[in-house]
Amino acid sequence: MLGNGPVIYGLDPLEPLPNISFGEIIYQTLKDKPKNQPILINGHSGKKITYSELLEKSCLLADALISYGYGPNTVMAISSKNSLEYYYPLIAAIFIGAVAAPLNNDYTNIELNHVLNIFKPRVIFCSKDLVQKFMKQKSEKEFIEKIIVIDTEESVFEGESLKHFIAGNVNGSMKLTVYRPVDIKAHPAFLMCSSGTTGLPKAVMLTHQNLNTLFMQFKDSRILGHDVISLCLPPFFHVYGLGSTLIGMLVSGPIVFLHHFEGNSFLKSIEEYKVNRLFLVPPLVVYLTKCPFLKNFDLSSITEVICGAAPLKESTERDIKEKLNLKVVRQVYGLTETSYAVMYSDKDGKKWKPGSSGRVGPYIQFAVRNPDTGKFLGPNESGEICIKGDMVMKGYYDNLEATENAFTDNGWLRTGDIGYYDEEEYFYITDRIKELIKYKGFQVAPAELEALLLTHEDIIDTGVIGVPDERAGELPFAFVVKKQNSLLCAKEVQSFVENNLSHQKWLRGGVIFVDSIPKTASGKILRKELRILFQKL
Ligand code: AMP
Repeated sequence: MLGNGPVIYGLDPLEPLPNISFGEIIYQTLKDKPKNQPILINGHSGKKITYSELLEKSCLLADALISYGYGPNTVMAISSKNSLEYYYPLIAAIFIGAVAAPLNNDYTNIELNHVLNIFKPRVIFCSKDLVQKFMKQKSEKEFIEKIIVIDTEESVFEGESLKHFIAGNVNGSMKLTVYRPVDIKAHPAFLMCSSGTTGLPKAVMLTHQNLNTLFMQFKDSRILGHDVISLCLPPFFHVYGLGSTLIGMLVSGPIVFLHHFEGNSFLKSIEEYKVNRLFLVPPLVVYLTKCPFLKNFDLSSITEVICGAAPLKESTERDIKEKLNLKVVRQVYGLTETSYAVMYSDKDGKKWKPGSSGRVGPYIQFAVRNPDTGKFLGPNESGEICIKGDMVMKGYYDNLEATENAFTDNGWLRTGDIGYYDEEEYFYITDRIKELIKYKGFQVAPAELEALLLTHEDIIDTGVIGVPDERAGELPFAFVVKKQNSLLCAKEVQSFVENNLSHQKWLRGGVIFVDSIPKTASGKILRKELRILFQKL
């Protein structure tokens, strides 16, 4: 449907939103699937789990969690690289109305300190390699009561194994056929990390209703084809990886996943599992366009490449389409704050517009707003992309000020992205005004790097920006003012960051020493000026 005036409405929904909890949707969907069909496949090891295993273990764990004393409002953190076991605690949490908080498994103690103090999880589900890291956190934080290890049958130090926890707590009379997830809808289901348009990482609250809407979008055959085999590389702790796998498993078919990128495993998995759809981020599309070994693999099963989480260059889109002989390459656009992508390029390729992120999805509205006047703009006029609809977050957990700043007075989510739409309501994202660097699709908040750098005894001021990079999209780059007579060198600044923050945030772009950081009268860093300075280097 064409929008009236400057509000662009998404495709007319084919069905109304379901009035049940997201847990009920998951339960009913898994129950109706062919029992022994593999649903999640580890592309590195070839190990698989079936629909019935996923349902059974999630229900048993949900029951054990309730017996143990957890329930609605309990925050449960989950931290592991992509794994077969990842979704047991996540689905169990949803079943009992608890709030699942996926955390980046590369987080350092400093980063964990920050996010755990916001989320305040009572229980942590993690992989065995992370137990000791979380034991340290538990010893410092009273709110953490328990650590459960998801990927081993034996307990590891203080981490009780999932198997042991279920066996020790499950109610013997629990019957899978009559199991009922808790009935809640407006309640938060996930807390996800995002720095939003400014400042440090915050906890985005996504509700059962938000996820029901995402489920309905995936179910809409105009948005996604069904009965296909997909491959997913993005991490499960990010909305793109989480939505593509969790909702993909429910709606569109088996998912082959990888937990780290390695060219050979990636291409071999596509060939071996005859993968039809790839969920990728721009650097992986770039990899495919440049990879000299493509011809050594049979990739003819691929019919669809979906690319999200960061901008994809028009030329790369054309290259990959030609290289893989595809009808279409599909850019999708969204934010953690919108639960997943809310704008999709056309599925059938009849209207392929390279460089465009496509049209607004069902249940969603977009507007392009002049950031200075607040006026909504018409076709081909550039402004800030604003979003409303059933996938937009409830707000930032325990942070009223950031929540208020994220929305306009009329309740539109301000994305901090600049773009426009054409006469046919296809959108183009052209720039970003928010303080966010995207390294390979990962969020890097300049404020977080600046806060860390300012703790260095030789640094008196700093400003961080993203600088363009063909493979990664952007690289973090720091301008640093050091103390007089300090012998601090760029390498030492980089090492300082490497010792304290996860690898996505490392200053790969470089470090340069300056006399001062340009600021407004109120002390806000003038990043535009830093960008100009960088161009002059
Ligand atoms: P995240 O919350 O990590 O998913 O990051 C959301 C941000 O990623 C958006 O606000 C955009 O800046 C960027 N982004 C996501 N998808 C696209 C896209 N298709 N084109 C351009 N930028 C994108």
